[in-house]
Amino acid sequence: LYPDVNGGELRDKLAEVYGVDKEQVFVGVGSDDVLAVAFMTFFAGDKPILFPDITYSFYDVWADLYNIPYETLSLDEKFRIVNEDYYRENGGIIIPNPNAPTGVEKSIEELEEIINENREQVVIIDEAYIDFGGTSILPLINKYDNLLVVQTFSKSRSAAGARIGMAFGNKRLISYMNDVKFSINSYTMSRLTVAAGVAVLEDEEYFKKTCNKIIATRERVTGELGKLGFAFPESKSNFVFATHKEVPAKELFEALKAEGIYVRWWNKPRIDNYFRITIGTDEEMDALIFFLKNFLSGRN
Ligand code: PMP
Repeated sequence: LYPDVNGGELRDKLAEVYGVDKEQVFVGVGSDDVLAVAFMTFFAGDKPILFPDITYSFYDVWADLYNIPYETLSLDEKFRIVNEDYYRENGGIIIPNPNAPTGVEKSIEELEEIINENREQVVIIDEAYIDFGGTSILPLINKYDNLLVVQTFSKSRSAAGARIGMAFGNKRLISYMNDVKFSINSYTMSRLTVAAGVAVLEDEEYFKKTCNKIIATRERVTGELGKLGFAFPESKSNFVFATHKEVPAKELFEALKAEGIYVRWWNKPRIDNYFRITIGTDEEMDALIFFLKNFLSGRN
């Protein structure tokens, strides 16, 4: 038997856990797949879509691939999204909340204003990192028929290997996404994945425990980093976007890499003196802090 094209039991379980109707749920092979289908479905016009200049690096890749014109809008000096920039003619909007790689969260009130100002366009809020201390905008899908909320099992649900992502939105939006998906490959999710996904959702205790553990480690690590002369915007995600007051990020990135400690560094304007540290286990973070302490004191 083929799997259910709509994700079957997984879709039903998502509807139950997130308190929405089954017809308001779309499932895909990770949120990258969900986002790619959403781009194809909703961003097919001639007007440019809008997203921040510093953001998840796949948005411009999909826009280029699907020939979607786009404009990137500058974050302010504190890496915040400026609302008024999004009150202009456009073919759709995508904003991650919290943003990546900065970890900065935008308030629901501010996001709602952007959604309300753009009632004729689809506004996608990519909530890949929402469970690490952020507030989800999901309840507003019942108020705004142009809002699509995308989430994933890959971060807070510790199941990146299962490849499960989902979108929540108005029934019409979801049915249009299904029309596109069914034109490419209806059976993207196997029966085994559906079963794994249901099991993940049923283990609410593990989900809460791991999220709280990551949040606690993040808070401890940011405290330590602060003492070592690092600065960073407040993170509501499972990473910290840090810069050092004296040592260039590139130098630190290379020294860490030589030690077998991998952080991410982008050779891009505005963020080339920052690097992103993903929150790992306490032991991994201790190794990072231990190395940084020695490296920084040895350098003086
Ligand atoms: N959105 C954002 C903002 C991300 O950082 C990621 C992770 N690379 C994704 C979506 C995609 O994750 P996945 O396909 O594993 O759900």
